[in-house]
Amino acid sequence: MKLPIYLDNNSTTPMDPRVFEAMKPYFMNVYGNAASRNHAFGWEAEDAVEKAREQVAKIIGASSKEIVFTSGATESDNIAIKGAAEMYERKGNHIITCEIEHKAVLDPCRKLEKKGFEVTYLKPDKYGMVHPEDIEKAITDKTILVSLIMGNNEIGTINPIKEIGAVCRKHNVILHTDATQCVGKVPIDVNKMNIDIMSISAHKMYGPKGVGALYVRRKSPRVKLAGVIDGGGHERGMRSGTLNVPGIVGLGAACEIAMQDMEKDHKRIMELSDKFKTKIFEALDETYINGHPTERLPGNLNISFAYVEGEGLMMGMKDLAVSSGSACTSASLEPSYVLKSLGIGDELAHSSIRFGIGRFTTEEEVDYAVDNVIKAVNHLREMSPLYEMVKDGIDLSKVEWQDHH
Ligand SMILES: *Cc1c(COP(=O)(O)O)cnc(C)c1O
Repeated sequence: MKLPIYLDNNSTTPMDPRVFEAMKPYFMNVYGNAASRNHAFGWEAEDAVEKAREQVAKIIGASSKEIVFTSGATESDNIAIKGAAEMYERKGNHIITCEIEHKAVLDPCRKLEKKGFEVTYLKPDKYGMVHPEDIEKAITDKTILVSLIMGNNEIGTINPIKEIGAVCRKHNVILHTDATQCVGKVPIDVNKMNIDIMSISAHKMYGPKGVGALYVRRKSPRVKLAGVIDGGGHERGMRSGTLNVPGIVGLGAACEIAMQDMEKDHKRIMELSDKFKTKIFEALDETYINGHPTERLPGNLNISFAYVEGEGLMMGMKDLAVSSGSACTSASLEPSYVLKSLGIGDELAHSSIRFGIGRFTTEEEVDYAVDNVIKAVNHLREMSPLYEMVKDGIDLSKVEWQDHH
């Protein structure tokens, strides 16, 4: 077993060797520009791009004409939100999203606010879920777009997108969903789920980095987006620029493989994460799972370990590549805005770790990781006077603390 162990599959996934094999010819031998219409070099590249377009469409139940290739989900989110805002500006200026979206959604929304749009940032419930009723209540006659994440990258909660889509349909509002964490992991059908625009990224599903796609519905209703990157009119005017042919081939292959292996992967990853969770919770008390107990991404475990200090915990788990619940800003260690929004206190947020189990995680790695986590937490707790008091049965809420200020 090689150390450190990669348990950060929600940040990015290693590329599947089968994806790399599919991409190889397109770096060297097939180098034509997919937009060159006058010769075989161009046609061959175009054929590869169109095959990939079908592979991407198929895994989400779309038609290939509805797929726009981009540089990744950040760009897809930007095109979806800014493109819809510009296109439907005359219909209204109100957008609905939620507090725990990825920054690739929140930052474009903030920018639009500066341009006169009104954005409602819904607060999710304590599990990080937004409910159809919340959306319905927030819709006004000025609402043009709802943008809601499908599976949250930090806490794993999966939103009821199908029901939210039905509400959006009823009120004639376009629904965009950032499905970056879900595509290839859970079944998605854009028609059954009433999705109008959807962001996809290759590197979260064992494909290459720097390539993604945007699904844009073509009928009932036909959605139009203003171009954000102009210059040549590629991708139906929604995203100009010479296509990244090897990357696109890689995304297509990643979709094809995910479709074949989804059930098998899902079963194996759930077994591993159930084992991980069970062992941790058997060995450690005062440990909490963040996000929804059942409606969550396979393999994502976001866990708070009370009475341990976050940085110390990371130090004690040097063999594990994981993400912490704090974001290192230049000045201070800020607790994650996602955990904060769920009402999790700073202390607990700082002691939160996101474990991401993926297609290539082995059972041996899970066993080693569990052992490491339990040892590190116990070690830190042995040094914590607060934890000693809790173990002695002292109710901390009744303790009168001395004020040091
Ligand atoms: C990773 C991620 C993104 C950004 O995707 P890139 O392809 O890296 O730009 C956006 N949204 C979610 C939910 C993600 O997990």
